This record gives sequence, structure tokens and C-alpha cells, in this order.
Amino acid sequence: MKAAPFAYVRPGTVQDVVAELARDGAKVLAGGQSLVPVLAMRLGRPSTLVDINAVPELDRLSRDNGSIRVGATVRQRRLQRDDLSASVPLLRLALPWIGHREIRSRGTVCGSIAHADPAAELPAVASCLDATMLLTSTRGQRQIAAAEFFTGALTTVIEPDELLTEVLFPVAGPGEGFGFGEFARRHGDFALAGAAVRVRTTGDALQARVTCFGISDQPVTADVTAQLRAALAEVGPSPTGSQLRRGLAERADEVAADVVDTSGDGHASTAYRRRLVAGLLAREVSRAYLTSTSASEVSAS
Ligand SMILES: Cc1cc2nc3c(=O)[nH]c(=O)nc-3n(C[C@H](O)[C@H](O)[C@H](O)COP(=O)(O)OP(=O)(O)OC[C@H]3O[C@@H](n4cnc5c(N)ncnc54)[C@H](O)[C@@H]3O)c2cc1C
Repeated sequence: MKAAPFAYVRPGTVQDVVAELARDGAKVLAGGQSLVPVLAMRLGRPSTLVDINAVPELDRLSRDNGSIRVGATVRQRRLQRDDLSASVPLLRLALPWIGHREIRSRGTVCGSIAHADPAAELPAVASCLDATMLLTSTRGQRQIAAAEFFTGALTTVIEPDELLTEVLFPVAGPGEGFGFGEFARRHGDFALAGAAVRVRTTGDALQARVTCFGISDQPVTADVTAQLRAALAEVGPSPTGSQLRRGLAERADEVAADVVDTSGDGHASTAYRRRLVAGLLAREVSRAYLTSTSASEVSAS
């Protein structure tokens, strides 16, 4: 099947992009890795494609005020390979899981977040870190926190006339540790289930949160501080990875039962996804905790 006819424009400034998006039926074209298949299958029929790749200011990748700022045309592979991403370790852990190198070379970070596939890695990372999205239209700019951004499968708060100009990922602070894992049938496939984890240990304070993906119509974030605290009370404050995983196992089952709310599909049943999520949670929360304690030792010395 071929795409339905559409007009194609390639503006050179953000101002011109948003002027084009203000017209009925216009759609942003970034890396095209999700949009082009949608067009080819005629699942979407935009009247105009607004190609944003000729706008120099959208290609910026920078560090500013405790965040990494990723512009709308920055490719996933560029972020993966840039030294800046080392200051957001969760991105470093997650990016290699996206499709294949060729996909990451064309696909943009903002495009993945705007597309909001429930099984995609970057929306989960954005949710776990509470990243900020910057939206621009002819009406002005607005900033949206990840917790308010994703509203359902392939759906966000982006209005048809808005461009996601930048995503701001907070850089990791002292005493923070991260974990990321997913299960897919083959490497490069979308995940059947996955989990992104951030643990913060500063002095006596402990905070652990997990964002699961592939298990609902959007990323689901849960606070698992109580579960981690209870497991540590059982296994002691300086456990090995396997001791902590065992301590977390039953508690991870309970969290998985809460967060997995897909009714199952041709790829996996609900029960199977719950088992996957429980295993991922125990493993990645444990990994994130152990990294966070070594990160706080380093920052204290
Ligand atoms: C074979 C294959 C395997 C893949 N595997 C994975 C995977 O494992 N994990 C994963 O996460 N993804 C995967 N992808 C998708 C890939 O990551 C895409 O690059 C990404 O989802 C979309 O980014 P893009 O830049 O290509 O956006 P496009 O395809 O150009 O656009 C996607 C959608 O987002 C909108 N959009 C894009 N940018 C903006 C913006 N700045 N502002 C507003 N709206 C915007 C477009 O209008 C369109 O609706 C795969 C793709 C393929 C073809």
C-alpha cells in the first residue's frame, strides 16, 4: 500500500514550523521511523507533512541548569554516543534497547516521546526522571512535566498545532543509582514488558521509584520506597545483589500485580507480563540501590 497524497513543506525556522502546524491536518515529520509506516499503511492521512529537519536550532544538545536539553531533531544514536548523556545514566542504560542502530540513527528522542508508544523506552525514562517537555505553537510556549504529558496509547497533551521543541532530562545527583531492563522476543523488538528505576540514598533518606512500560496504555510509575526499605530491614543494610533480589521478590510480585493492567494481547498474557515485571523489578531495584550506595560513598569521600 502507498501513502495517501499529502503536501510537503520544509521550513527553516521554528516560527515557520508552528505557522505551518496551525493549518488543519498538518503533521510533524522528524525521523520518520514511526510516521512513515503509519502513512504507508494509511493509518493516518495528514494533509501536510511539516519536515522539521532543516531548522538548525532544533538540533541542539546541551547541558543547562542541572538538565540535559535535547532538541527536536537530535537523533537517539547521537544522544547515546554523546558524553553529555553520561550525566543522565538512565538514558545511557535505555537507549541501546531502542530498535536497531539504523532506527536510532534516524529516530529522534523527541519523536519517540511525542509518538508515545506504550512499549517505548524513552517515554518510560522521561516518566521515571520526571523530565520536562517544552511545547511551542503560534500561541506561545508551555512546559509540561512527564507526569501530566502521557495520556494514553499513542496519545499525549500535545495539541495538533504544537511542536515538542525540547525535552529536559534532569542530571543525576549524588547518591542516585539507576536500573533498566526489558524483555522482548528478539533484540530490537518492542518490549513485552520493561522497567526503569531510580533510587536515591542520601544519609538516612531513601527514595525508590519505578516506571514500567509495555504493560498498560502508557508508562506507569510507582513509588517502591516502602518495599525496598522492608527488604533492607530483612537482609541488612549492606546486602549482596542476590540477597536483595531475594528480599524484594515477593514484594515485587505485589507491585507487578498493581501496575500491569493490560488485559493481555497476542504477544503475552497479563499473568506472563506480571511475572516479567516482578523479575525485572527485583533485579533492577536491587541494581539501582547498590549503585546508589556506591555513588553516595564516592560523593562523601
Ligand atoms: C523496525 C523498527 C523498530 C523499532 N523499535 C523500537 C523500539 O524498540 N523502541 C522504541 O521506542 N521505538 C522503536 N521504534 C520507533 C523509533 O524509536 C522511532 O524513531 C520513534 O518512535 C519516533 O521518532 P521519529 O523521530 O522517527 O518520529 P516520526 O516517525 O517522524 O514521528 C512520529 C510521531 O511523532 C510526531 N512527532 C515527531 N516529532 C515531533 C515533535 N518534535 N513535536 C511534535 N510531534 C512530533 C509525528 O508527527 C508523528 O506523529 C522502531 C521503529 C522501527 C521502524
